[in-house]
Amino acid sequence: MGTRHDRGGPDPATDDRADYDYEGGSVERPAFVAALEDRIDGAVRFDEYTRQLYATDASAYEVVPTGVVYPTSTADVAAVVDYCAERGTPVLPRGGGTSLAGQAVNEAVVVDCSRHMDAIQSVDPAGRTARAQVGVTLGALNDRLADHDLKFAPDPAWGDKSVLGGAIGNNSTGAHSLKYGKTDAYIEDCEAVLADGTVTTFGEVTLDELRSRADRDGLEGQIYGAIARLVDDEHEAVAAAFPDLKRNVSGYNLDRLLSEAEDGSVNVARLLAGSEGTLAIVTEATVSLEPVPETKSLALLSYHDLIDAMADVPAILEHDPAAVEVLDDVLLELAADTEEFGDLVDQLLPADTGAVLLVEFYAENDPQGKERVADLLADRVGSVGTDGVAQSGADSLTDAPREAFHGQEAHEESERKRFWKLRKSGLPILLGRTSDAKHISFIEDTAVPPENLADYVAEFQELLADNDTFASFYAHAGPGCLHIRPLVNTKTVEGVEQMAAIADGATDLVTTYGGSVSGEHGDGRARTQWNRKLYGQDVWEVFRELKAAFDPEWLLNPGQVCGYAADETIPEGVPARARAVDMTADLRFDPDYEFEMSFEPAMEWDNENGFQGMVELCHGCGGCRGPQETTGGVMCPTYRAAGEESTATRGRANALRQAMSGDLPADPTDETFVDEIMDLCIGCKGCAKDCPSEVDMAKLKTEVEHASHQEHGASLRSKLFAHVETLSAWGSRLAPLSNWLARAPGSDVLAERLVGIASERSLPTFRRESFEDWFAQRGPAVDPEDAQRRALLVPDTYNNYSNPDVLRAAVRVLEAADVHVAVPDDATSSGRAAHSKGFVDVARERARTNVDALEGRVADGWDVVLVEPSDAVMFQSDYRDLLGSDAAPVADNAYGLCEYLDRFRLDERVDWTGGEETLTYHGHCHQKAVSRDHHAVGVLRRAGYAVDPLDSGCCGMAGSFGYEAEHYSMSQAIGRILFDQIADSDGDAVVAPGASCRTQLGDRRGHESPSHPVERLADALAD
Ligand SMILES: Cc1cc2nc3c(=O)[nH]c(=O)nc-3n(C[C@H](O)[C@H](O)[C@H](O)COP(=O)(O)OP(=O)(O)OC[C@H]3O[C@@H](n4cnc5c(N)ncnc54)[C@H](O)[C@@H]3O)c2cc1C
Ligand code: SF4
Ligand code: SF4
Repeated sequence: MGTRHDRGGPDPATDDRADYDYEGGSVERPAFVAALEDRIDGAVRFDEYTRQLYATDASAYEVVPTGVVYPTSTADVAAVVDYCAERGTPVLPRGGGTSLAGQAVNEAVVVDCSRHMDAIQSVDPAGRTARAQVGVTLGALNDRLADHDLKFAPDPAWGDKSVLGGAIGNNSTGAHSLKYGKTDAYIEDCEAVLADGTVTTFGEVTLDELRSRADRDGLEGQIYGAIARLVDDEHEAVAAAFPDLKRNVSGYNLDRLLSEAEDGSVNVARLLAGSEGTLAIVTEATVSLEPVPETKSLALLSYHDLIDAMADVPAILEHDPAAVEVLDDVLLELAADTEEFGDLVDQLLPADTGAVLLVEFYAENDPQGKERVADLLADRVGSVGTDGVAQSGADSLTDAPREAFHGQEAHEESERKRFWKLRKSGLPILLGRTSDAKHISFIEDTAVPPENLADYVAEFQELLADNDTFASFYAHAGPGCLHIRPLVNTKTVEGVEQMAAIADGATDLVTTYGGSVSGEHGDGRARTQWNRKLYGQDVWEVFRELKAAFDPEWLLNPGQVCGYAADETIPEGVPARARAVDMTADLRFDPDYEFEMSFEPAMEWDNENGFQGMVELCHGCGGCRGPQETTGGVMCPTYRAAGEESTATRGRANALRQAMSGDLPADPTDETFVDEIMDLCIGCKGCAKDCPSEVDMAKLKTEVEHASHQEHGASLRSKLFAHVETLSAWGSRLAPLSNWLARAPGSDVLAERLVGIASERSLPTFRRESFEDWFAQRGPAVDPEDAQRRALLVPDTYNNYSNPDVLRAAVRVLEAADVHVAVPDDATSSGRAAHSKGFVDVARERARTNVDALEGRVADGWDVVLVEPSDAVMFQSDYRDLLGSDAAPVADNAYGLCEYLDRFRLDERVDWTGGEETLTYHGHCHQKAVSRDHHAVGVLRRAGYAVDPLDSGCCGMAGSFGYEAEHYSMSQAIGRILFDQIADSDGDAVVAPGASCRTQLGDRRGHESPSHPVERLADALAD
């Protein structure tokens, strides 16, 4: 993924008012920084904040790096490595930082290739190859290849957030490894920077050539010499030590190297696959491609328990599926209890399902796909009786016992998506715990040959029970690689011991069953020490020899994959950093971890461990670094605009936790921290919905800002925005004078100078007659006795004073649906403006006023309706944070306008005369966050419109954010994603329920402000 500005959008940094490009606290090694800055084009960041932001990946570990560089080219990478080698400073290449074993953190200079080195240099459809820089995400690469019906076949689940360099570093693969194998099979050649800064190319060489290259000077000769020796001398040792397994990414890729050698040549580029940045830094690679399959089809098999399912895998594999994925009872039960997945479990699975296998086939056409699924069901399930129990009768392809008691199939894309959604339900459920004990990754991808799965899983369950914990078992059953994340509290000494004991036991288990300690996620900090036990001392030493040949000073990601174990003496002349990392060291949460609340949270936190639990919830997966093109969703617009770790939810969550645990020497309420870390969060709530753990950064930010106001006071501008309803009421009262003043020549410059409102923005125009004035005169048109329902229409500030047509349209539509409408004169503004600026007390006061005013009528059967989505969500969701259970009577009965029409099917009572138009619909991020945005599309369609609903995120205006001078450029950069989506839509007109979104879209030169959907509904009413 390129960032927006890389792809032609505005660069938020080009606005010299923009403050997103933070300073990041003190810089420890200024001379080091200056020297690197002299040598490279990319940025160099050794400040405290940046170093902390790169101290974690998606693993349980935390190690603060020396600093971070963002190279723009191979030459930059070479210059960094060269200089670091001179100084004896370790270097760590990094991509998306989504590694789960800790291999993307180290005390080293981090070379983040994901920011700038993301070019796809060429695609050769005929030869089925592509060449790209290592910072390109697999999602972006595949997007480009889709035009040719080709793809980079290994499909790690996080491929749209992780990059090619990381896939090579980890030898990544995904659910379809049965078909495609791992990344190593697709690397043709690569450009790499060696440990001394030399740039070289690795690719296929004959054994003769390999031996002759051993005579070359310097590091290259040493590397070829070591590989030649391995090929000549270590074949037997490696063959004996390496498991015969589709999935094994532990240690170096010696089994592939030596099996290739049997055919007379080796591909040295492939040896780098899975080396986790310890042998060389790859900068570009040519990869081979696979055709996109014509058709996919799925079967979902139900078993009474997990062991039955595991026992059935070998028989299923005889059908040559592309994927066989498992979900156990632990996850199914958790999924059944969630709002998001509960219905899916109910609809898809018979009551006594204890485990499911999802089996996918690739086929050349639909009939073939159907036939393959039918064969599987006939073989593994047979016909299913009315009681859902398998009946015998179908021809069996194998002699294996029939285990599945229920089977079903999916061929249409929407159905297949439902099956896969069920399979993917595991992660969010497991990772949503805010307790001290967490489902951490350290044995989560152990793998065994599929024929051993049943016995292995049974013993694994015993191992966990013996260690007083449990885990779920899910994911890639086909190749024998299960995801197992035990619940462990590493904040206690006992928890750390438990973790080590489980890892030790798991290593014994996989060794017994011919498996590996890592079938997918690599060694890193969690597994390196177990490679010695897995492979034995001889191969452990062979690994070391290879490492020393590539990197004699152990400068590249030292201590990982191999090294000197705790009981081995590091020979003289070998640096201490050659010590293999200890899996219990450098844990993010360890027994010394302390969390200090420097302020009292002002809102309700009903999750376990409250505010602290939420601060510690982010597990670093990097999901918030997903681009709109492939991930969709709302999270995280600021990262999508700026491409900076500090602007992703992960960056903010890490920095906040580190500030509160003392790792970052900053008080989270200090101006610097708020400005540099919290300020750019636009409070869109995207993370509360899209993050697998539901990290609610918008709410955390409100708490921090509130505490900061308490301690240090708030700016005039913040106070003005927080009280925008008072200003607007005066603006309306004084119109048209107020409008004339706001538009007088020079007023824009003055507004920017005096209060920091961007001069590019036009201020709202106030209407002398507010909506409330209009309604007070007009009154309701439907009598309560004749009404289908009774609605309290609560006006929001913007529409009341500046755009009353929207509220008037709402009245017309509601009344056409036989709703009696009243506008409560004892309610006040929702408090959204105050809440979004961190004035929690003001927001709470508003919430209290509204709940007190409305709850009596709500108890009498009235509904509360709002046209502005952010206000509706304030009532529905934020009031609960502010008032706890007191909010429930009103919150439970508050609706956005279209949600109200849809939920009670009120629009079906209306005689619509909708026209021929196609409307492009942009929903509001707050409503998306609470899953209430979909209603408008259904209502508009039933009113006769064709609708193109955009998979859009935040518009970038975000209340007052886009008005603020220093945020204008960021607001535009975020908005551009939406602008492009609108440009690509075939709609005749745009509709958007959010007032901010309409302002953002209407502020563009040559564009009119879109309508609120209710205005188009009003247009479609019969006269
Ligand atoms: C939710 C989730 C699901 C996942 N699912 C899968 C899955 O299905 N399959 C799978 O294989 N993995 C999976 N992973 C792990 C991880 O996402 C992948 O291994 C991914 O390919 C790593 O890419 P990255 O860009 O994040 O690399 P990073 O984490 O940044 O780096 C990975 C390793 O590669 C090294 N490296 C990075 N760039 C280079 C370079 N240019 N040259 C040499 N070495 C380099 C790093 O030093 C590090 O050791 C998952 C992770 C998460 C959080
Ligand atoms: S905020 Fe959520 S999506 Fe982002 S890294 Fe943390 S857990 Fe993952
Ligand atoms: S609230 Fe929005 S901008 Fe803030 S971290 Fe979450 S997704 Fe990003």
